[in-house]
Amino acid sequence: MTNQYDVVVIGSGVIGSSIAYHLSESKQKEILVIDKGFPLSGTSGSTQAWVWVHNKTPSWYGELSMYSAELYPFLERKIGDVEYKRTGGIAPFFNESDREKALRLAEKQAEVGIDIEVLNREQVLEKEPALSPTIAGATYSKIDGNVNPFRLVELYIKAAKRNGAEFSFYNPVIDIDKDNGNFTITTKEGVFYAKQLILAGGPWTKGLGELLGIDIPVKQVRGQIIVTEPLAPLIKHTIGGMRQADNGEILIGYSKEEVGYDRRTTLDVIQDTAKMAVDYLPDLARANIVRCFSGIRVMPHDGFPILGEIPEIDNAFIAVMHSGITLSPLVGTLMTELLTEGETSIDLKRLRFNRFNECNV
Ligand SMILES: Cc1cc2nc3c(=O)[nH]c(=O)nc-3n(C[C@H](O)[C@H](O)[C@H](O)COP(=O)(O)OP(=O)(O)OC[C@H]3O[C@@H](n4cnc5c(N)ncnc54)[C@H](O)[C@@H]3O)c2cc1C
Repeated sequence: MTNQYDVVVIGSGVIGSSIAYHLSESKQKEILVIDKGFPLSGTSGSTQAWVWVHNKTPSWYGELSMYSAELYPFLERKIGDVEYKRTGGIAPFFNESDREKALRLAEKQAEVGIDIEVLNREQVLEKEPALSPTIAGATYSKIDGNVNPFRLVELYIKAAKRNGAEFSFYNPVIDIDKDNGNFTITTKEGVFYAKQLILAGGPWTKGLGELLGIDIPVKQVRGQIIVTEPLAPLIKHTIGGMRQADNGEILIGYSKEEVGYDRRTTLDVIQDTAKMAVDYLPDLARANIVRCFSGIRVMPHDGFPILGEIPEIDNAFIAVMHSGITLSPLVGTLMTELLTEGETSIDLKRLRFNRFNECNV
């Protein structure tokens, strides 16, 4: 391992590893990815992993998510089977009064090419018979699905390594300096130099920003998930709130709490999640729960990805977002375009860091 690289990526979660893989395909850069732990020790190893598009709003955000979902089948052909399944997505509603909102969503998303059907109770139950007959209807789109995040990150990294990218695990970055156009990155295991630097530290990205003297406007938001024992196939679609994995386990939950970096699970949220599960799928009342886990989302203050150059620090870039599983193929592609060509095929204006005014500490 040398200590001089064209690009150093900090963070080997789904975002850092996707960027490293896509960038390595261009064969133009010597790349090093540094992680303080192992690749799935952050949020990417504690996620629901829906590739979810249909009710992402405003519609430009839905459109971005759709482009990324469309890249998944192609990605699988390149890196291998990541257990991506385009199951179709169902987001149920329980009150007739929500139908108007659902119709407006369908109309808006159609403008950017996302097809949504607004189903009545009978139509939903025909698609997904195990859902509760108390639902009033649902929005449905074929574009949604889910993926195995463990295989995804592992295969991004294997493919990046095959293309020559290097990785340094269990190696925290503790200092970053910029001097004569080069970044000096001090880690527990030594010093590395890079011409371009990418912060992809997930929920720790704010701390990485402090090493560069910038305030990155992100919050940490905990999510708690229940996992059932493996069950016979019960649901076919990805349902707003739950999905069934290939091994039969059902992953349930979408809670949000701002409690800092605290990965404990708590009885109150787990009870609410279990109640939601049974309200949606009454059969789950008989399922055994084998474990609960929590993950810490990184959530930009306005909810949208922060992607691209870091203002006033030449050659420093950031890629931090919620929904990184959905967005990773597109983010890797766009960051590669930005780093190798200086421009992107999709305008990143809405995602730039400088949309926030208060970036300097
Ligand atoms: C409960 C839950 C459910 C979710 N459901 C979905 C979903 O259905 N669909 C979806 O698209 N998204 C979902 N998300 C969000 C998604 O999981 C994240 O957006 C994604 O995993 C973030 O990936 P990342 O690479 O940015 O961060 P991480 O996976 O956290 O990776 C960041 C890496 O940076 C490393 N790092 C940090 N600081 C340093 C340092 N100083 N030195 C070296 N290394 C460092 C960490 O060790 C870590 O490995 C969910 C999240 C949660 C918590």
